[in-house]
Amino acid sequence: MALTKLNKSIIDCRQCDRLVNFREKIATEKRKQYLHEDYWGKPITGYGDEKAKLLMVGLAPAAHGGNRTGRVFTGDRSADFLFKCLFEAGFCNQPISINKNDGLVLKNLYLTTALKCVPPGDKPTSLELKTCFKYFNQEINLLKNISTILALGKIAYDACINYYKQQYDIKNKDYIFSHGSQNKLPDNKILIGSYHPSPRNVNTGRINKIKMVRLLRKVKKDLDN
Ligand code: SF4
Repeated sequence: MALTKLNKSIIDCRQCDRLVNFREKIATEKRKQYLHEDYWGKPITGYGDEKAKLLMVGLAPAAHGGNRTGRVFTGDRSADFLFKCLFEAGFCNQPISINKNDGLVLKNLYLTTALKCVPPGDKPTSLELKTCFKYFNQEINLLKNISTILALGKIAYDACINYYKQQYDIKNKDYIFSHGSQNKLPDNKILIGSYHPSPRNVNTGRINKIKMVRLLRKVKKDLDN
């Protein structure tokens, strides 16, 4: 189907020289604990229920998470935290996301990133983001049932706003990020902000399982109504 075709073109993409070099460098050098593994080292596609109403968006794959395992939010500590919460809120069949063969099934949820390649320092240039938005755009157009976008972290949230700014005359001041913030987008989708499930945010207590599950359960309730 169209999404399969799109995902193939994403995986084959080599358009941003800096990001191609970086993702491949990480895949060659590897982190010590994963030296025995073959890293994916290519762009990451979205993953999940193609009929989902909820689209969850991160900024980009993690260097030793998605860029290693080949699946978004898979195989790192952010994924460990996120999937415990998603499972508890009823968005997936298991509380773990370790590798592509772990049996994970997402329910009413499609997970993706605004940028498909890992950027140095988690900081893409505006040109790289703009270049990659064509894929995000196609995903949004192909996922016909999406009514809500939940952005994981302020940078992903801002990337969503920048994406919409390319097509609509919207103002940043009308979209203030906070955990649980909710705003209507010009195409009538709802944009929700959430703190990123990063180890730093978890360790500092900015986000915890109770806060995250509370938000996810509220989103689920609204989607089910
Ligand atoms: S960031 Fe996007 S556009 Fe750039 S190389 Fe990766 S997949 Fe291609």
